[in-house]
Amino acid sequence: MRIVFMGPPGAGKGTQAAILSKTLGIPHISTGDIFRANVTEGTPLGLEAKKYMDAGEYVPDGVTNAMVRDRLTHDDARPGFILDGYPRTVEQVAELDAMLRSAGTKLDAVIELTVDIDEVVQRLVKRAAEQGRPDDTEDVIRRRLQVYAEQTAPLIAVYDSHGILTQVNGLGEIAVVTVAIAQAVNAQ
Ligand code: ADP
Repeated sequence: MRIVFMGPPGAGKGTQAAILSKTLGIPHISTGDIFRANVTEGTPLGLEAKKYMDAGEYVPDGVTNAMVRDRLTHDDARPGFILDGYPRTVEQVAELDAMLRSAGTKLDAVIELTVDIDEVVQRLVKRAAEQGRPDDTEDVIRRRLQVYAEQTAPLIAVYDSHGILTQVNGLGEIAVVTVAIAQAVNAQ
C-alpha cells in the first residue's frame, strides 16, 4: 500500500506512521527525519535544509522533491510506503503524482490526523523539553503551524476530491488512534 500521512506539526504522524510501518511491513519515510539525519551528518543537503528548518520554513520544493524521488526508488519502497511530512505543498503533490505515474502506481490512502491547535502546541512544547529539537521553540512552533495552515492544509481538499482521504481523530490515547488508522487503511 502507498499511504500519505497528513496533519499539523505535533499531530502524531511520526508516532503512528512508525507503528503502521511495522504492521504493514513497508518503510516509514519521514522527510523531516531524513533532513535531520543529514543535518547530523553535516552533508551538503543537511547544511542547506538546516537554514529553513531552524526558522520553521519549508525547505525549497526542488531540494525536497529530488530527495523523495531518490528515496522512493530504493528496493524497500517497491511494495509500498508510508510518507510522513510529504507532500506539503501544491507543487509537491504534482511531483509525487508524476513520480508514481511514471512508476505505474498510485496512492491508495491519505490519512489526515486531526487535532486542535492548543493540544498540538502543548505536545510540541513537551517534545521540546524532552528532545531539544531546535525547531521546537515557541516562536518557531507558531511559525510552523502558520506555514502548515497556509501551504499544507489546502492539500487536504485536493486529496478529498480524489476520494482517497480519511480523517482520523488524533486526540486521545496512542493505541486508540492506531486502531482508527488501521480501520481507515483497511477500508481503502
Ligand atoms: P513537523 O511536522 O513536526 O514540523 P517534520 O519533522 O515533519 O516536523 O519536519 C521538520 C522540518 O523539515 C519542517 O519544518 C521543514 O523545514 C522540513 N520539511 C520536512 N518535510 C518537508 C517538505 N515536504 N517540504 C519542505 N520542507 C520539509
